[in-house]
Amino acid sequence: MNATLSKTGKIMLVGLGPGAVEHMTGRARAAIAEADSVIGYATYIRLVASLIDGKEVVKKGMTEELDRAIEALERARAGKKVALVSSGDAGVYGMAGPTFEVLFQAGWTPDCGVEVEIVPGASAINTCAALVGAPLTHDFCAISLSDLLTPWPTIARRLDAVAYADFVVALYNPKSGRRTRQILEAQRLFLRHRSPDTPVAIVKSAYRPRQRIEFTTLAKMAEADIGMLSTVLIGNSNTFIQHGLMVTPRGYASKYAVEEGERNTRDGEQAGHSLSTGLDGWLEMIWTSGKSAGDLAQEHRLPVEYIESVLSMPFEPEAETAEDEA
Ligand code: SAH
Repeated sequence: MNATLSKTGKIMLVGLGPGAVEHMTGRARAAIAEADSVIGYATYIRLVASLIDGKEVVKKGMTEELDRAIEALERARAGKKVALVSSGDAGVYGMAGPTFEVLFQAGWTPDCGVEVEIVPGASAINTCAALVGAPLTHDFCAISLSDLLTPWPTIARRLDAVAYADFVVALYNPKSGRRTRQILEAQRLFLRHRSPDTPVAIVKSAYRPRQRIEFTTLAKMAEADIGMLSTVLIGNSNTFIQHGLMVTPRGYASKYAVEEGERNTRDGEQAGHSLSTGLDGWLEMIWTSGKSAGDLAQEHRLPVEYIESVLSMPFEPEAETAEDEA
């Protein structure tokens, strides 16, 4: 990079959260206040309209992500502080990736005089979950159904894998005017592994004026009103909906029984210790079962090669220390 660069230029990748000012972080507001220029998709610029009076504003369309990053770099090289704003978190299907790609191609390095700061924001998975209850209290993942930059087989393979592995899933970019079939294919893949009754929540425009929440099931989700501003949350096999709240149990019920207001540890389980079917307990069980690797693989739905490699190692129970479960 050439030595004439200003030492004060800065690119800030600012996650705005879902869209309401009160869900924006203090640092996100300060970053926008600090910026000379604010660059972003027109909708996101509108979300922060009250904070950008007197600033240079560059509104760019949805498909101009690389242009936005290039524009930010040019301004930062001229010594300006530039805020690139994204909804949710800038690193979740947002501008952070394309910006680094452009920066690396332009020969940028962390000590070249243009600073880069990523300001985290609450992503749609978090904000939509908060609106429907507690659907993410167990393992979850996000999949974007957008095939603008990702081949369909890649998306389909991931849908198939997580449906099989029983993750709670947030589908980003589930449907648009032109992309209407992806959600049907996602449903088809999920139904191969999950019950048609699996709870599904569809959150549209979370924390924005047109917010809408709809509860449905895997079997019926394609009939729901889904669009560009929706996130679809599909529960795992334990997720339930009660009193209008979608909840994925953390697993306490398999360890503790609550009887007459008291919490009692179930037989064979110890508070603060791994489950009897945790790693050590499970190893002991398969080790002493006398069953073949093939039978164990089927029973536990695990690859036979994995079972074989585990069984080929000497079994040594490890002393366990109590852990915090919260
Ligand atoms: N960076 C953003 C995601 C951008 S991809 C984030 O972290 O949230 C765009 C997709 O995000 C939309 O198609 C939708 O699935 C989801 N999304 C973004 N804002 C949303 C909101 N307010 N309500 C519901 N879904 C939203």
